[in-house]
Order: sequence, then structure tokens, then C-alpha cells
Amino acid sequence: MNSIELIKRFSDVNGVSGFEDEVAQLAKEIIGNDYPVCEDKIRNLYINNIEKEKRTKPVVMLDAHSDEVGFMVQSIEPNGLLKFIALGGWSNQQIPAHKVRVLNRDGEYVEGIISSIPPHFTSKADAGKVTDMKDMFIDVGTTSYEETVNDFKIGVGAPVVPDVICTYNEKSRMFLGKAFDDRVGCAVIVDVMKELKDKELDVTLTGVLSTQEEEGCRGAVVATQKVMPDVAIVLEGPPADDNFRGAYRSQGALRKGAQVRHIDPTMIANPRLVRFIQKIAMENNIKIQETVRESGGTNASKIHLENGGIPTIVIGIPVRYTHSHYGFISYDDYIETVKLVKAIAENITKDIIDSF
Ligand SMILES: [Zn+2]
Repeated sequence: MNSIELIKRFSDVNGVSGFEDEVAQLAKEIIGNDYPVCEDKIRNLYINNIEKEKRTKPVVMLDAHSDEVGFMVQSIEPNGLLKFIALGGWSNQQIPAHKVRVLNRDGEYVEGIISSIPPHFTSKADAGKVTDMKDMFIDVGTTSYEETVNDFKIGVGAPVVPDVICTYNEKSRMFLGKAFDDRVGCAVIVDVMKELKDKELDVTLTGVLSTQEEEGCRGAVVATQKVMPDVAIVLEGPPADDNFRGAYRSQGALRKGAQVRHIDPTMIANPRLVRFIQKIAMENNIKIQETVRESGGTNASKIHLENGGIPTIVIGIPVRYTHSHYGFISYDDYIETVKLVKAIAENITKDIIDSF
């Protein structure tokens, strides 16, 4: 499978926090027999995790979270509409009037729309106001509680995923789809590890597709305690701001290369690791963009505090309109990110890790 197809498939699979099964399944299918693969009970997927007693080299963990933002059904109204809560961070204005998929008790996805009030019934005073999520519903096209529950087999606790199919535009080299945060990170891990499969490295690369990041980086805590890495690289689909901020102030732009994060409110990156990555990028002619973030946080927030303090970096492919139904990412940023992670893996040694 080529990288374009890989990104599209990772974007399309359903996997809100706690329900990442399809993502793990897809990764297993693509990895095939290239590496040993295993899972744990929180549904983290491990690619090439070597037991501690059998290790001969330092371990570099590549982490990407497998979950995406979505919703969960909280209750069902007498008229068949579904009341719901958010999984992950949503802004009210991005939620209504979009298509979703609701997982029913038979394991099938039922199409629905997030409700909104037509202009005909909106008073002048209310026009332009953003509805609160508490006042929205998911409509699966039914008119009674019984129809929703008995005919469509939808129950309380059903996960809800944005209903979007990813497309790639060859002219702009952009992908338009859902869940690039963080399926693009999952794609990078699979691509890098497959490309380095027969390469003799000075480190062991272990890939982790970790669950429930959007609900508090929960999978990554379990994964880090299992892998106990010496260095961690968190691959992310961070928010782009180049469509509303000036070019010089932008902290995440499309087509500017792999994004290297110095800081966010949850972690200050190990500066020696940052310098090593800057050097690798320069020597290998890899385009990077650097970011100093005032908001946000990633799995790195938990990972870097484990195992006596793990040198950790967040490398990302900026996503426009993240945490909504649709986003854009640049294929060129993806290619630079894969090149950068490969070059790090090929050049990092025990001595370099000791110097961090
Ligand atoms: Zn993310």
C-alpha cells in the first residue's frame, strides 16, 4: 500500500476514544509479518516491543494516538433523537449540521445528522448565535424512542464518529478528511517502521498506537510503563493556524515541513534532543518548522515523566480545522516528517542518548 492510500485508510476508520479497535486492526493488517505485534487491555497496539530481559539496545518509542474526537450517546428522547456528550475537545460552533455514524448494538454504523434549527424557525434575535452542545441532538431519521432503540438498535453509550471519507487532491497535494489528529501520526509510524524493517540500527524502534489521548492521554501512560523507552518521539496532527495568523507568527503552517515542538503547557522538550533533531534535519536537507505553543498538550505530557524522565519530542504534521469534522493536511509535510523520523532512527546511538 502506498503512503497516500495508507493515510486515507487511517483517516477513514472509526475510532473515537475507547473504541479504537478498527485502527489497531488496520495497523496489524499493514504491518503483517514485518514485526511482532501485540495489544493490551486498554487497546494500545505495540509494534516490535521487545521484552526487557531480551533487550540489547536502547529503545526509541514512536507514539501516535489511535483515537479521534467524536461523541457518545447519553440518552434517547421520546421523539427518537439522541442526546450526546463530546469525546475530546469540541467547540460548539463546529458541531451542528454535520453527518455522523452511530455504532449500534449489532456493530453496524447508522447514519445521522447533528440537529440544527432551520432559518425559518430562527428568530432575528437568535440568528447568528451559537447553540450550546447541550441543546443539540443526533437525528438518525426516526420519530420515536422505540424506532431508534428497537429498529435501529441504538443504545445509551453508543460511540459516534464524524461521517467523512478522505480524499486526496493531486494538484494541491492536500488530503481532505477527518481524524488526521492523530491518524496521520499512526501512518507515519507504520510507514517509517516498514521502510526500516531490514535496516540494522543502533537502537530498537518500538511503535505504539496508544488509545484515549483525547480523554487525558490514558493509553500512553500504560504504554510507556510497558515499553520503558530511552527516548520517545510523539507523532502528532497538531492544529495549524496559518489560515488565520500572519505567516511570521504562525505556529503551524501547511507546506512548511515537519513541525518540531519546543514547548507547550504540558512539556518542555529536552533541549539536547531538540538540537540533535535540528542538526539531523539540516544535514539531511529535511524541511522543519519549529513551534512554541501557548496551548494544547499531547501524550508527551505523560511520557516524559516516566522511567526517571524520558527525553521526548513532539513532531507533527499541522492540520487545518482540527477537532472538527474535516481537516486539510499537506502530503509534502508528511513526506518531510517520515524522512525526519527515519533519519533520527538511523543516526541516534546509545552515546547520543546518554548525552541527552
Ligand atoms: Zn492529537
